[in-house]
Amino acid sequence: MPVNFVDDKKFEATAHVIVVGAGLCGLIAALAARDAGADVLLVEREDNVGGAIQMGRGLIPAAGTSYQRDAGIADSPGQFAADMQRKSKGSSDVRLTLGVATAAAPAIEWLADDHELVWRLEVGRPQSGHSRQRLHGVPERSGVALVRRLEEAARRAGIAIVTGSQVLDLYADRSGRVSGVMFRRPSGMRQEFGCHTLVLATGGFAANTGFLRRYIPEVAGAQYVGHRGSAGDALYWATQLGAALKNTSAYFARAALAVPYWQLTSRLLIEEGGVQVNLKGERFGNEVEASTDFAPLLIAQPQGLAWTVYDERIHSEAMLLDDYRELFDAGAVRHAGSIEALAALIGVPVTEFGQTIEHVINCQRSREVDLFGRDMTHAAAFGTPLYAVCVTTALINTLGGLSIDTRARVLRTEGGVFPNLYAGGHASSGVTGPHAWGYLPGSGWLSALSLGRIAGHSAAEQALAGQSGADWAVK
Ligand SMILES: Cc1cc2nc3c(=O)[nH]c(=O)nc-3n(C[C@H](O)[C@H](O)[C@H](O)COP(=O)(O)OP(=O)(O)OC[C@H]3O[C@@H](n4cnc5c(N)ncnc54)[C@H](O)[C@@H]3O)c2cc1C
Repeated sequence: MPVNFVDDKKFEATAHVIVVGAGLCGLIAALAARDAGADVLLVEREDNVGGAIQMGRGLIPAAGTSYQRDAGIADSPGQFAADMQRKSKGSSDVRLTLGVATAAAPAIEWLADDHELVWRLEVGRPQSGHSRQRLHGVPERSGVALVRRLEEAARRAGIAIVTGSQVLDLYADRSGRVSGVMFRRPSGMRQEFGCHTLVLATGGFAANTGFLRRYIPEVAGAQYVGHRGSAGDALYWATQLGAALKNTSAYFARAALAVPYWQLTSRLLIEEGGVQVNLKGERFGNEVEASTDFAPLLIAQPQGLAWTVYDERIHSEAMLLDDYRELFDAGAVRHAGSIEALAALIGVPVTEFGQTIEHVINCQRSREVDLFGRDMTHAAAFGTPLYAVCVTTALINTLGGLSIDTRARVLRTEGGVFPNLYAGGHASSGVTGPHAWGYLPGSGWLSALSLGRIAGHSAAEQALAGQSGADWAVK
């Protein structure tokens, strides 16, 4: 993935803006650039657009939207930024965090008003770490459906989308001004394209074991369940260009991958009162702190394994979920009529396991905060039979990357910004700070949405200022 430093590189065709990667960030960046009047080429390595959001529900947090006002929810970007800062214990970039929080609500409204997206606000209990209900999703509550609507909007807007085409090389002059890209078409043909500005929206690097070993060795051995396009291509180019990297140690993982079924277990098991014990029969932390906080603790346990333990009430609720029923039918869920019988069944020391579960039940009965600071005041006490499912850590994505300013311009290691290079979403440094525990749920989709729009708009403005028109058509 070289950067070719050529001062007078000539291209047969040049677009105002090229966006590399058509995940949420890239789709939004392309739409924003097109709305600002630019001709846009969006290049995606996979055969279909959408990236990682297709693997989730696509509920995007935004504060101060009309949907919240209609539901009587008072919220503001300041409040949202404060929630993010609280979660990251003040370790995320203050200006970028406020900028991203401020950009989210206008982006949600823009997609509805100008691109026919329909949003529904989640009005249940606020998601862990959020002080308000602020998750917005399409009516289907699915990332796939959101992507379908965005792709339709992009095609209506006249954005040229090229799929199955990985961008391999960048061209730049000695000052670091990017002049174009080279990508490989599905036929194997290599095609060069010039651009006035470039947006990197290539996602994270969790599918790249080499980068994981270098930047986050603790998760290099974890099972990766994310999108295979998260190969860290932007990092190869960044290091050659001399771009600054930030927060590359941050990641999003869940202590919830059923072993050996390799399917994520529902958050409901823990949120409704379940606990996790290691192979010694001991709990090792507060399971309800955002699941990302718990994953690093699980990695440190013997064999990196734990049993999620819960009771009949939680099991019955979970059986309403397709994913859980599948796991149950596959034999992943063990159950027994007593604590001792369950310990024997799952192979953990009976005495330690018994003491652990008795302590949990005592806290649940007396409605106390337990020794890990977990609030048991609302949890119903476990009854029998008890259930257990064996889990390990699932790595979902990395959260750091190219360091950017509040206009999504990529920063140089020696200070200052590159003349025409932008980044957003997981390709960029994001808003969670350098630690896995700094991740406020929804921050991934938030930074893809907000930074995508900022990057696309900034890139188009720059490309159109004093530049001649684009001179190309994608064949
Ligand atoms: C199972 C799962 C659950 C998740 N749940 C949540 C959640 O609850 N909340 C949340 O906020 N986030 C969640 N996420 C993370 C979320 O999906 C990401 O934060 C977000 O989608 C990142 O968007 P992005 O556009 O930056 O990157 P991506 O979605 O990774 O998109 C990057 C795109 O760039 C393409 N690409 C990469 N390199 C090249 C190249 N060289 N040339 C061309 N194309 C390239 C990739 O193929 C990909 O399509 C989840 C992710 C997964 C996998």
